[in-house]
Amino acid sequence: MRDFTFETYRKLLKQIIQSGYEFQSMEEFITTPKNKVVVLRHDSDIWPKNDLKMAHIENELKVRSSYYFRVPETFNEEIILKIVGLSHEIGYHYEDLVRSKGNQDMAIANFKINLNQLRRFYPVKTITRHGRPLSRIESLKLWEEYNYKSLGIKAEPYLDVDYSKVLYLTDNGSKWNASSSNIRDYTYSEYFNFDIETTFDLIEAFSQNKLPNQIILNVHPARWNDNFLVWTYRFFLQKAKNSAKTSLKSLRK
Ligand SMILES: [Zn+2]
Repeated sequence: MRDFTFETYRKLLKQIIQSGYEFQSMEEFITTPKNKVVVLRHDSDIWPKNDLKMAHIENELKVRSSYYFRVPETFNEEIILKIVGLSHEIGYHYEDLVRSKGNQDMAIANFKINLNQLRRFYPVKTITRHGRPLSRIESLKLWEEYNYKSLGIKAEPYLDVDYSKVLYLTDNGSKWNASSSNIRDYTYSEYFNFDIETTFDLIEAFSQNKLPNQIILNVHPARWNDNFLVWTYRFFLQKAKNSAKTSLKSLRK
């Protein structure tokens, strides 16, 4: 069986349910966290059509998750409306400080405009920053000068979650343990030591109840595909990207 297909994703969700975990949206988890819970965070980087497919699969299994959209890249009104209709949370996947080339005032002005675009469809309460590995500017630095809480935002999970208690796993790099290929994704957990590379490893770990009680899975819908040709193309593209990032990282050391 191939990994990172929607079929494998469905198997993962079914196993999580079977292992006795509940699901919460990011906002629910921040306000009233359950004891044994998985939060599915979806960063919509490209291809919102994949987001919609994933949102349907989750809804069929009565799972609620959180989708973060870039504006304008993945801001597709029709798809966002449909995902709201499937009762998922919507948030803003922002990169305004990179866009304004580090100009804080311009960045916060644009942040507000884009946030309001999304709020036409959903009362957005959480945000996640879009990482730009090749940019020298870090979008999170916007919050050194401004406070998102004054804009009605309850949480930015990079800053408001204690990752010594909550296990964070991301499919970045089309594997689950790709810490070496995540230049900016620094919240992958240093606190938990599991050898989970494939989704099948992850399913196995859930079935053996080896994992902590509170888990955030960062799942990028664009990385999951049932079409064999697209899947193969992306598999090799990702391999090339990973080795490029690894060499970039060693250069920076
Ligand atoms: Zn992103």
